[in-house]
Amino acid sequence: MSTQSPSEGTKPTALGMRQVEGREWWLWGSAVVVTLVLTVGILSLTFPGFHLPTDAAYSLNLKEWVRGLAALVLLFDIYTVYQHWQLQRVRRQLAEREQLFQLITENAADMIAVVDRNGQRLYNSPAYQRILGYSAEELAATSSLDQIHPDDRTRVLQASEKARDTGQGERLEYRIRHKDGSWRFLESTASAIRSAEGKTDGLVIVNRDITQRKRAEEKLAHQSFHDGLTDLPNRALFLDRLQRTVTLSRRHSDLKFAVLFIDIDEFKVFNDSLGHAAGDGLLIQVAQRLTASLRGADTVSRPRLGDNREPLVGESTLARPGGDEFTVLIEELHNPSDAIRVAERIQQTLALPFDLNGQEIVLSVSVGIAFSTNAGAEAQDVLRDAEIAMYRAKSTGKARCEVFDHATHAGAIKRLQLETDLRKALELNQFRVYYQPIVSLGNGQIVGFETLSRWQRPEGLVMPGEFIAVADETGIILPINRQLLYDACRQLRSWQALFPSDPPLTINVNITPKQFAQPELASQIGNTLRETGVDPSWVNLEITETIAMSDAERSAVVLSELKALGVHLDIDDFGTGYSSLSRLQRFPVDTLKIDRAFVSRMDADPETHEIVRIIVMLAHGLRLKVVAEGVETQAQADMLKDIGCELAQGYLYSRPVAAEAIEQLLRDNRAASISSPRAKAATSTSA
Ligand code: C2E
Ligand code: CA
Ligand code: CA
Repeated sequence: MSTQSPSEGTKPTALGMRQVEGREWWLWGSAVVVTLVLTVGILSLTFPGFHLPTDAAYSLNLKEWVRGLAALVLLFDIYTVYQHWQLQRVRRQLAEREQLFQLITENAADMIAVVDRNGQRLYNSPAYQRILGYSAEELAATSSLDQIHPDDRTRVLQASEKARDTGQGERLEYRIRHKDGSWRFLESTASAIRSAEGKTDGLVIVNRDITQRKRAEEKLAHQSFHDGLTDLPNRALFLDRLQRTVTLSRRHSDLKFAVLFIDIDEFKVFNDSLGHAAGDGLLIQVAQRLTASLRGADTVSRPRLGDNREPLVGESTLARPGGDEFTVLIEELHNPSDAIRVAERIQQTLALPFDLNGQEIVLSVSVGIAFSTNAGAEAQDVLRDAEIAMYRAKSTGKARCEVFDHATHAGAIKRLQLETDLRKALELNQFRVYYQPIVSLGNGQIVGFETLSRWQRPEGLVMPGEFIAVADETGIILPINRQLLYDACRQLRSWQALFPSDPPLTINVNITPKQFAQPELASQIGNTLRETGVDPSWVNLEITETIAMSDAERSAVVLSELKALGVHLDIDDFGTGYSSLSRLQRFPVDTLKIDRAFVSRMDADPETHEIVRIIVMLAHGLRLKVVAEGVETQAQADMLKDIGCELAQGYLYSRPVAAEAIEQLLRDNRAASISSPRAKAATSTSA
């Protein structure tokens, strides 16, 4: 490739060449002058008429003079030829260097430029055309400064000035415009070309195209601040923007902002049942809808667009801090209610069905809102407040929106403490299994036990109502109940051996929503039964109707899996959910447990009595056995027996008690039922 450079004659070697030429002029000039002067001298001495006649002595002297002068001419000419020869050598060397320079610059991947003292381009290597797209002529016709990014110009000017002064420039990065209009990143170093006097004649600048490296760096930086799935800002970037807003609002007290914390309700259920790829797809669609709905907010925020709607909010930043959570920072808030309106609009937008590979998905989100406060809160604190409000929205029934307040805050702190304590309790083995007998209303015999957790703290016994829900939400319930099932199974074997009966004693174990959502639930239970040698048909798993009905299709699958183990299934707390008996028909359940709320009212309220009677009747129609929960009085027990209810559980028979108390209970019960089949089970120490 041979590109004619803009000014071929002015490369660095050309500067040397100019010096050589100067010296040649001087040499040949002086040679001519000296030769002429000496020749005139010789002539004047040699030819008569040029001088006065002289005597013989003078004539002899004259001959000597002429000879001397002729020798000088000869010497000078030899000197001149020698000098000429020397200059030729220098010229050849320069030509060789010129060639070398050409070879290096023309083939170098880097762009090499030579500029003169005033920054005027003297030479640009062919790499310029390859990298920047300009031809040599185009380069010659433009100023290099014009092509440099306006933001970088001052820096480049300063650097070249420094290079001229010091002779060595620093490494510099700047952007230059490609012919196609795009910006390329260059890394450049300049070195001064010095004259013999040490003055800077110009600069040699070596530019390396680092665009690709820069793009890679930019991409990396982008990745570390954005969520890979949705490309939304991640938690770190969101916090950074939030912190800037927090700092700004501290200086300008009228600057208000809000943070929305959005969490998809039951996302885990979608993820588990549809698979992670589908879950990801859902998150992407949610992100798109959120982005679109927030842009709307931006538009209406600009009254100058001629929009006569009430101005809403300023700039908003949407981020995905992780999982199924999204956060929104609304800046320049005019009124707190605006943030609530944005939250409601988000909820409406997300309530429309999603199409996931042809499958229609309906979801809801819970939103927590935190507003800017004047207190010394930092970005972290505001985000945490919004998150706390979101948890509150979830706990008060999902698909809701809650604003952070300090009562919420106190509650959240307490809850956080509880979570920490629960984790510790697990390590310290503080969970105990209590057993409450289930009694046959027909003969008063204890047929089995419901296992109930207790938390044995040094301060005293904690009831499940205070920790099961939190343990479930945080997942701590999984190890707790795994241990519970194991302990209960071993306990059952020993009681069955001590008190053989036909059918043998059974145990009931409660299943929480978290457990129910676990794909490996059935296999885990199966393993424990095998390990402990318990026949699955002695085990009843209790699932509340709310859990079973929340996703009926999935429940049918999970319940069949459990059923396939050979265990029995009970519907717990029946009557408190929204389900009906006919819908339960779809599930392979064996027993209904009528909730305590009905049983406790049935002796005082005939209507409740009637409801219980119908439930028992319908359950029998579906071939389900019925357990009445919370039986506290003999009157209730008698009524239930009359209605045809088979089994009962309640304080009338025994409170839940520790395993050690059960043996005595069983002994008394067996003795009593031999002497009188109608006798009730012995009451024991309460828990
Ligand atoms: P549940 O499954 O409905 O359990 C029955 C609850 O009613 C127990 O409360 C029991 O003590 C109480 N109870 C029994 N008979 C009577 C009575 O005659 N009168 C009154 N007023 N109450 C009676 P507990 O032990 O406080 O358990 C509360 C709930 O916590 C349970 O309700 C169950 O849903 C859950 N739970 C307890 N332990 C566990 C566990 O280990 N795992 C799981 N998944 N859930 C558990
Ligand atoms: Ca239960
Ligand atoms: Ca129950």
